[in-house]
Amino acid sequence: MSVLDSLRYHVGANIIGSGVLRWQRILLERKLANPNWWKHQHIAPPLLSSGRLKELISHHYLKGKFAPGHKKVAWISSGAPMEFLVALGYFPHYPENHGAMCGIRRISEELSDVAEGAGWSRDICSYARTDFGAMLSNKGPAGSLPRPDLLLCCTNICQTVLYWYKALAHHFDVPLIVIDTPFLYGEARQRDLDYTKAQIEEAIATAERVAGRSLDPRDFDATTRLSKQATDLWKAIIESARHRPAPITAFDQFICMAPIVEMRGEAFTVDFYGTVLDELNERKKKGIGAVKNERHRLVWDNLPIWFRIKWLAELLAERGVAMVASTYTNAWGELADLVDVSNPLESAARVHLHPILNRGTGHKLALITDMVSRFEADGVILHSDRSCKPYSIGQVDQTDRINKSTGAAALLLEADHNDPRAFSEGPVRTRLEAFLELLEDAA
Ligand code: SF4
Repeated sequence: MSVLDSLRYHVGANIIGSGVLRWQRILLERKLANPNWWKHQHIAPPLLSSGRLKELISHHYLKGKFAPGHKKVAWISSGAPMEFLVALGYFPHYPENHGAMCGIRRISEELSDVAEGAGWSRDICSYARTDFGAMLSNKGPAGSLPRPDLLLCCTNICQTVLYWYKALAHHFDVPLIVIDTPFLYGEARQRDLDYTKAQIEEAIATAERVAGRSLDPRDFDATTRLSKQATDLWKAIIESARHRPAPITAFDQFICMAPIVEMRGEAFTVDFYGTVLDELNERKKKGIGAVKNERHRLVWDNLPIWFRIKWLAELLAERGVAMVASTYTNAWGELADLVDVSNPLESAARVHLHPILNRGTGHKLALITDMVSRFEADGVILHSDRSCKPYSIGQVDQTDRINKSTGAAALLLEADHNDPRAFSEGPVRTRLEAFLELLEDAA
């Protein structure tokens, strides 16, 4: 760590950068607070806290830009335990979150082209292709990304991350930690916990070696506690959509989820989600729905179609349809009860064994069925994501079974979370409209 790099970090990211971002946030909040600004006929104005969300994400990427030389940088897969890395002072970067941001900004296709041009198959996950493209071209919404000192991936979401991170380790020539989680058909057994915990212990030792310092148990406790608080708040945010009309939709949650994925273990994340929850509670009190004139409620399964979130949200809202829950955003809230702040290591092992993608398709079916009942949904859209095979497997069966067991209408929609070339607007619109007519008829 050099003094000059630390000075650059504090001046660039914390003094000038945060000053500019705060000013931008104030301007945005003024605009959002103006009742005449928002004209949309079917969707409520964005939450006031959207200004803070923008500030948080921009500041995170700004800190990443100035981190090399001041902090160690770790690239982490979305399902990996990261509280110990934050406690060790690492800057955490999440390639999947970055990929999502590229999707929202509509540059994922261009970046995939770069990756495919370099030989990566179009059949691999579009997050991976987007990020390989960004890595090779140094392009992206935040410009070039901070070079990693360490890579951490966990196989609890898919095997793709294993090969993806091996390729990153080869490209950057840095250590790679792989945490392999046994697949769960029911609850975790003691031997699954022991196996995972032992790997996390080894991961901590490697991270300490790269960081050149030891993990202080008090710091690990503190980041775990903050992580738990943020996760509890996130869960409460999701649950708030059980209210009629729902004060937030799954589309809003997709946009709002970046901090729970890549900024856990930080006090500002807890503070931010506390503000969001206050706003939602206020909406509930006043009877404000995220979709004006909510008439139907749906559940979404799988990743969002990042480059079509606005299009889809508007198409549904025009017909009084609120997407009130999603299995994807739920994945960052449903494990809140498994976090045990008095035992961070054991707790990390337990939590990271239980993500939805590390469990059988029967578990997912039970989860969706439960969501339909708790959120009083009339239907489910199952996004068959060409890129994400582990999330999409079993959906044909699930579509049928959801309908039979809950009576809710279910639609299988073929697309891709980050590759617009696998999305065809005409057929998707036709299928959606037929599905919405079915909902109308059933009402
Ligand atoms: S294949 Fe699915 S789980 Fe794996 S990185 Fe891609 S989107 Fe995530």
